[in-house]
Amino acid sequence: MQFKFHMPTKAYFGEGCVIQNGSELAGFGDKAIIVTGGKSARASGALDDVCSVLTQNHIDFTIFDKVENNPSTNTVKEGGNAARQAGARFVIGIGGGSPLDAAKAVAVLAVNDIEPLQLFENKFANKPLPIVAIPTTAGTGSEVTPYSILTRNDIKTKVSFGTPDTFPAVAFLDPRYTESQPAEVTVNTAIDALSHNIEGYLGKRSTPVSEILALEGIRLFGSCMESLHSRKFSSQDRADLLYASMLGGMVISHTGTTIVHGAGYNYTYFKGVPHGKANGYLMAEYLRFNYGHAREKIDRLLAVMGLTGIDEFDTFILSLTGKPPRLSDEEIAEYAAITMKQRSTASNIRTVQAADLENIYRNVQR
Ligand code: NAP
Ligand code: ZN
Repeated sequence: MQFKFHMPTKAYFGEGCVIQNGSELAGFGDKAIIVTGGKSARASGALDDVCSVLTQNHIDFTIFDKVENNPSTNTVKEGGNAARQAGARFVIGIGGGSPLDAAKAVAVLAVNDIEPLQLFENKFANKPLPIVAIPTTAGTGSEVTPYSILTRNDIKTKVSFGTPDTFPAVAFLDPRYTESQPAEVTVNTAIDALSHNIEGYLGKRSTPVSEILALEGIRLFGSCMESLHSRKFSSQDRADLLYASMLGGMVISHTGTTIVHGAGYNYTYFKGVPHGKANGYLMAEYLRFNYGHAREKIDRLLAVMGLTGIDEFDTFILSLTGKPPRLSDEEIAEYAAITMKQRSTASNIRTVQAADLENIYRNVQR
């Protein structure tokens, strides 16, 4: 047995964890930049808690709240300039995956005079500023991953960068911050967490430790299926989904994602479909495609969710996502070609050709 397990993020989980452990921030310096979107930080209550802790610890701060969904390289460039101008010593990301990923890019750009496209080279002369991550969705697990996923218009897709230095130093996971999410966002992000756990569990790079984390994440999603279906969430569901999301983040930090993510980015880039929902469209077909190569594992993950087979999985996820947008033959060929260029495609347990991806896209819209 051989594996490496590396999880440098100190994660605090539970209601009130920011206020209870706010002194953690004192060690990072006397000036912070808060990176967030237009509403999540305020709506969730996270911003109030963070501001009160910063004030208590005599830390000055500035707020950059221009992060859009699926952040662009231009936005993180602007955020990097704002951090530099403010003299920020550390970055606090508050929000869903979009602001958390943007915070990582801002942490690099604040101290490295490079163009955003150079982020993807993963080599930075200066160590990024320390990052504190506070999720307000339960899906991406970005608070415990080194990845920052940015939209690249030059190659019409989303691409990630990340090094060991872009793991957040500290993550605060308070399930109450996820209560203000619209139901749609709760459902889509939960599917994203499920896809991290499943793709990581089945991927070529899975390890004994990541498998245990992934199965627990999948089980927790399974325990919330009724609530996801009815779109009514108890505080237990909120905690379980946030925990499943964190586990999924720890999993993909070791395994990466595979073709569900690679192929899903096209629905997001070209059709504006939210990230988790895009993954949801593809997951059942992904399981069917890999079944002959990972029969035991797929049977186990379905059993852990309390499901009897891939068809039942398909029906359930479809009930959450609805049908995908119809793609023309030209679109299918283009999306498959773009997915083939994603690094993550090589991590799939079964070797993937462009024709396989075309079939998956076709089957999805049956
Ligand atoms: P998101 O794009 O961060 O947020 C979706 C929407 O939900 C935004 O409008 C956001 O508001 C709103 N929202 C978030 N939390 C809320 C709350 N508590 N109350 C009210 N509204 C709230 O969604 P996401 O699915 O979490 O993140 C998706 C991004 O993460 C994608 O770019 C994806 O590629 C990336 N991702 C990263 C990783 C990783 O490892 N780093 C893994 C998977 C996915 P605002 O407008 O205020 O933001
Ligand atoms: Zn994802």
